[in-house]
Amino acid sequence: MSNLSAILPGAVIGVLGSGQLGRMFAIAARQMGYRVHTYSPETDTPTGQVADVEIAASYQDLDAVRKFAQKVAAVTFEFENVPAACVEAAAQFAPVRPSGAVLHVTQHRAREKSFLAENGFPTAKFLPARNLTELRAAVETLGCPAVLKTARSGYDGKGQAKVNNLHDAEAAFCAAGEQEMIVETVVDFEKEFSVVAARGLDGSFAHWGVIENRHRHHILDLSLAPARMPKKVAANAVEIARLLVVKLDLVGVLCIEFFLTRNYEILVNELAPRPHNSGHLTINASHTSQFEQQLRAVCGLPLGSTEYYSASAMANLLGDLWQDGEPDWARACDLPDVKLHLYGKVEPRPGRKMGHLTALALTADEAERQVIEARQRLAR
Ligand code: AMP
Repeated sequence: MSNLSAILPGAVIGVLGSGQLGRMFAIAARQMGYRVHTYSPETDTPTGQVADVEIAASYQDLDAVRKFAQKVAAVTFEFENVPAACVEAAAQFAPVRPSGAVLHVTQHRAREKSFLAENGFPTAKFLPARNLTELRAAVETLGCPAVLKTARSGYDGKGQAKVNNLHDAEAAFCAAGEQEMIVETVVDFEKEFSVVAARGLDGSFAHWGVIENRHRHHILDLSLAPARMPKKVAANAVEIARLLVVKLDLVGVLCIEFFLTRNYEILVNELAPRPHNSGHLTINASHTSQFEQQLRAVCGLPLGSTEYYSASAMANLLGDLWQDGEPDWARACDLPDVKLHLYGKVEPRPGRKMGHLTALALTADEAERQVIEARQRLAR
């Protein structure tokens, strides 16, 4: 790879979006001497608090997007629901990595699932439901129970409903405003896991192996690395990640969420073309974090080593923890192998991701035990 194409330290990187993923990206970028501009409709955001410049404007304000893009060397994003027109406007002035084409596929569940199926990647059975007629046909074909998911803007189980019969399915479809959905069979899984992978501008590939994930109320609760599963299954999942980043021609980071079924089949559930909550443990546990890797890929630098220093576990801290007052930070910090990350959000609403804890230990089981204890110590 020629260094001539690389965007070097001192340059400005633009981030569309301003949440915790942008914040951790900005921290990695500033560590390496880059400047960061963030763009979202809000102010005093998790990313804005650590960026050089925080632009507060609508994603629909294409003049503001163009002005933003003119001042940066490259644009990346920290959530995938950026309108296509916004990405196109930015791309007139700076390379957007991953590209608008990757966003187009991954910001729409039906398109994403069809892309996976058409390219031979294993998924749960699904059918599109753009109207009530298609919904009825889909539920009839796939049977119940089934999961209904909105095609757009779904995350952390939002826009999702499990239904046990056609009547419930119709009610859920109407309750969601008859917007486009997909119907999916319910997977009886042994566990959920993810592979966070990266692809450089030169086509180089890196990954952090398999990460085991546990959800509570559809929100990620705990992640453990390495995931406890047969080596062969893990190797298959990494191979799927490698094929996927090539097929998508992705430059940046991609998280692939998987189900491991009870008979040890793997199914792709969802793609996120950016760092992911399950990869937060790479900040403390790996030579290169997922955020530094995103920066390296976006800037056309060589990718860093994804080797782990140790096994690790990550526990999310949701706003619910604040219900009896400020959590007891000092008690959790009294565990010397546990690291605290907070995102600078002022209002701790239930279900809102406020921060996370990462524990490092010799085994994933021991790291899990420690991170759970640390989180318990926070509760008043
Ligand atoms: P998603 O928004 O697709 O990532 O779904 C959030 C969570 O809901 C997943 O991590 C699973 O725990 C659960 N879930 C989603 N789809 C299915 C499915 N087809 N079968 C069983 N559980 C599911």
